[in-house]
Amino acid sequence: MAHGITVIPGDGIGPEVAEATMRAVEATGVAVAWECVEAGAKALAETGKLLPDTVIQSLNRTHVGLKGPTETPIAGGHKSINVALRKRLDLYVNFRPVRMLPGLKTRFQDLPIDMVIFRENTEDLYSGLEHEVVTDVVESLKIITRTASIRIARATFEFARKEGRKKVTAIHKANIMKMSDGLFLKCCREVAAQFSEIEYGELIVDNACMQLVMRPETFDILLLPNLYGDIVSDLAAGLVGGLGIVPGANLGERHALFEAVHGTAPDIKGKGKANPTALMQSAALMLAHLGERKASRSLQAAIEKVYMEGKHLTGDVGGKASTSEFTKAVVGSLR
Ligand code: NAD
Repeated sequence: MAHGITVIPGDGIGPEVAEATMRAVEATGVAVAWECVEAGAKALAETGKLLPDTVIQSLNRTHVGLKGPTETPIAGGHKSINVALRKRLDLYVNFRPVRMLPGLKTRFQDLPIDMVIFRENTEDLYSGLEHEVVTDVVESLKIITRTASIRIARATFEFARKEGRKKVTAIHKANIMKMSDGLFLKCCREVAAQFSEIEYGELIVDNACMQLVMRPETFDILLLPNLYGDIVSDLAAGLVGGLGIVPGANLGERHALFEAVHGTAPDIKGKGKANPTALMQSAALMLAHLGERKASRSLQAAIEKVYMEGKHLTGDVGGKASTSEFTKAVVGSLR
């Protein structure tokens, strides 16, 4: 039976990378039934709703989604669709594996970078609780709860155990935010104590950023609250070739939504320059989640073959190929 998969193409380069990724997934030979729905700026223009009911209805049927980036206006305008979706479906784990691709030339190409970011996905400063106390004084609430901190820490350590990973580093600013980040750390320590075979460490976020640039190969699994996780994810992407590369997944008890770390890249929208690698690698994670391990491995291997050959890479990673030329090369490697 075909796997039902909800596709949210999104805004900016979203439709370009989503189409490329759907082609690559189909080329693995896995039977899929795509349910394409719109959310974000396009949905707002067409239906008057940022997150139309059809999106949630589809995800409640399929439980699995592939999502392109969606635009969020800066300093005003509508709230983030991503935050809304993650909260609505209780996708509390944001999982982002950051790995070097074979053959890709980067500033850190000689280092064996292979880290996994676990970012709490539902609270912190992303609660959206902001108000003006008096004129020219605003307050933004950072919410940290024991429930959310324990469950992200548990998901992180369970993954580490399952995958035979060696070390988890919790990242915080509890020297300043003694109560909120303090509670996050307390929960991480409590869970770490139940996984004695896995080394546990802690780093203050500013020091962690420096260490990530100086010694990226020494990091294994990073466990972070929402905001630091967002920022550190882009930093980590920069270590392995940029935002065009790094995949991700938003995971909850009932739903899984796969999406790249990158945004809508308005500067290259519609120019055929978008690198679909990040969403394709997210799709490889999705296929594994669906139990299609062989197809997942084949897709990942095809992407890596194209990188090894280095002839059909997009501009962001030093090549000259268009989105469709890169996609054609990946599809060709699958056959
Ligand atoms: P961005 O990730 O869109 O772009 C940053 C830079 O990376 C740009 O120069 C862009 O061209 C490049 N880039 C990103 N993805 C690329 C790809 N696949 N191929 C080649 N180059 C790529 O970040 P931004 O400009 O800060 O954000 C733009 C919009 O995206 C904002 O509205 C933001 O809110 C939104 N955003 C959405 C998500 C999401 O939906 N998950 C994530 C991050 C940002």
